[in-house]
Amino acid sequence: MRLWIKSLGCKVNLADAVQALEGLDGSRLQVVDRPAQAEVALLHTCTVTHKADRDVRKALNSLLRDLPGLPVVVAGCAAVTDGERLRALPNVRAVLGPGDPTAVARALSAAAHEAGEPGDPSCARGAFAHLGRRRAVLKVQDGCSAGCAYCIVPRVRGPERSVGLAEALAEALRRAGQGHREIVLTGIHLGRWGRELTPRRTLAELVDTLAGALAQRSPASRVRLSSIEPLEWTEELMAVLARRPNVCRHFHVPMQSGADGVLRAMGRPYDASRYAGVLGGLRQRFPDAALGADVLVGFPGEGEAEARATLELLTASPLDYLHVFTFSARPETRAAGLPGRPEPRAVRSRSEALLAFGRQRWQAFLRAGLGRSHELLVEERCGEGLRGRSQHYRPIHLLPGAGAALGDELLGGLLEVTALELQANALRASWCVRAQASRPGEV
Ligand code: SF4
Repeated sequence: MRLWIKSLGCKVNLADAVQALEGLDGSRLQVVDRPAQAEVALLHTCTVTHKADRDVRKALNSLLRDLPGLPVVVAGCAAVTDGERLRALPNVRAVLGPGDPTAVARALSAAAHEAGEPGDPSCARGAFAHLGRRRAVLKVQDGCSAGCAYCIVPRVRGPERSVGLAEALAEALRRAGQGHREIVLTGIHLGRWGRELTPRRTLAELVDTLAGALAQRSPASRVRLSSIEPLEWTEELMAVLARRPNVCRHFHVPMQSGADGVLRAMGRPYDASRYAGVLGGLRQRFPDAALGADVLVGFPGEGEAEARATLELLTASPLDYLHVFTFSARPETRAAGLPGRPEPRAVRSRSEALLAFGRQRWQAFLRAGLGRSHELLVEERCGEGLRGRSQHYRPIHLLPGAGAALGDELLGGLLEVTALELQANALRASWCVRAQASRPGEV
């Protein structure tokens, strides 16, 4: 089956798409780069903002315009909120919500007129390799029961549920066996992993178990955590991170606003000073970690004073990067009916200020990596060189020369490199040795 695939939105969506691919016959699957080469297309959709909805429409319209005969299977979150309209499009063969990869695989086989054959377990390459991904995303949790006022995710993905510890461990080891030297743990509400399992478990136990097992393999793999809510950075979790150096020192803590009134209206369970305390604690324990946050601009009730409070909290924080989102009212969320939305012009200028702040912090963080040793996951070729991300998520471009041959056999591996130069948005490194595993002291 020649398949073109586009996954919009978050890492959970990517993990869902990969699970669907694993329901196909791996020995006959060919993931192609361009829709024109495909016999079927899979569009994994996102609906978290107006812009995400627009991206789905844009992708479908351009397929319909350029390749009207190409059958498309639509999966993911927009299938829940916009299913009827999507089903009516002439090139769409099936519309399936999140969480049913088997149905997606069946729909793809049917659309490509193939017998719905099961995946070939002997195909050792794995679905991430089909997608050209070196980093494996492991979904250990889905759904959310928190109910933030602006968020549509609980409606489309349902309540929280966790993958069991044994299953998550087996899956992590399987990915490592497929050659992935980095496993990214992800979920919609990752910090609450295990709370509804019997017996109840904690994210700290999961990280400890997975990181321990992956460190003992040869070659060892590292673990990266995706976003964890502020109140879920427990003492137990911090202690596990401190004794597991193969957990990447890269921590993302959503903030959303620095104004207490706005945080309350959003239904976020912390205030600005509690948030600052969590970040301060992380920085103290992990002085060189990459610390990042999400900020939501333009929530109803955000005036100039609230915007200033956000910028002040950020300026006083030890954050190294920022993801800035603009509020958009999602259907059937509490925030959709709230009064007091700021003027679009004010929202734009607040976003720009935050983006400029984020760029400046990120540049400073990159500069702090100069002259230091980094553990680099080599992800792709870049001209004569190679590039990838360090343990701390710094982008690094490895240049040829100085006696180091940069052959394709290095792709997907971990290398120890020294950063010598900063160019635009990436560090440049020029020599390397193979890294064994993440060790304390490496960045
Ligand atoms: S924690 Fe809040 S923002 Fe995150 S998925 Fe749940 S409801 Fe949405």
